[in-house]
Amino acid sequence: MDFYSGHINKLIDELAKLPGIGSKSAGRLAFHLMGLPKERIERLAKAITEAKEHVRYCGQCHTLTDRELCPICSNPKRDARTIMVVETPRDLAAYEKTGRYEGVYHVLHGAISPMLGIGPGDIKLKELIQRLQDEVEEVIIATNSSLEGETTAMYISKLIKPSGIRVTRIASGVPVGGDLEYIDEVTLLRALEGRTEL
Ligand code: ZN
Repeated sequence: MDFYSGHINKLIDELAKLPGIGSKSAGRLAFHLMGLPKERIERLAKAITEAKEHVRYCGQCHTLTDRELCPICSNPKRDARTIMVVETPRDLAAYEKTGRYEGVYHVLHGAISPMLGIGPGDIKLKELIQRLQDEVEEVIIATNSSLEGETTAMYISKLIKPSGIRVTRIASGVPVGGDLEYIDEVTLLRALEGRTEL
């Protein structure tokens, strides 16, 4: 049913495509936005477009950044000999929030999923292997504890182990299928500290 104008409907449709926003919230957001002064709307639209224009993958860890190297990779205080492998930039952010991890990261941008047809070539695995030519002592696999996350962890472990580099997996205790970003910092740290050799 068409209660509103086409423009409002279009806005609601677009908002409803965002994760975690149902059609009701989309409607609420759309009307909230329309109630804002024009400057606020322009600032919001500009922030979105500019972020999209400037954000790219870090040349080393492949997280999202607006520089050639992200602030973590370019920080000389970080221990480049320890690489934590995560699925998404959000997982990286979750570990960074604990403030206790001193190594660097590698963001895969996904996980291997035969069911969804996502193979090793579809995530940033080749890039990880290339990084191992530098001085790396440990690779900590912190993919999610979902089926895909576990499959990916096993795959990476098999790939790296022959090189003699230590491969560890963060402890479970992280709920099965749980997204890393929703887990509290204490649990994340415990999972990191209790990591086991693969
Ligand atoms: Zn980086």
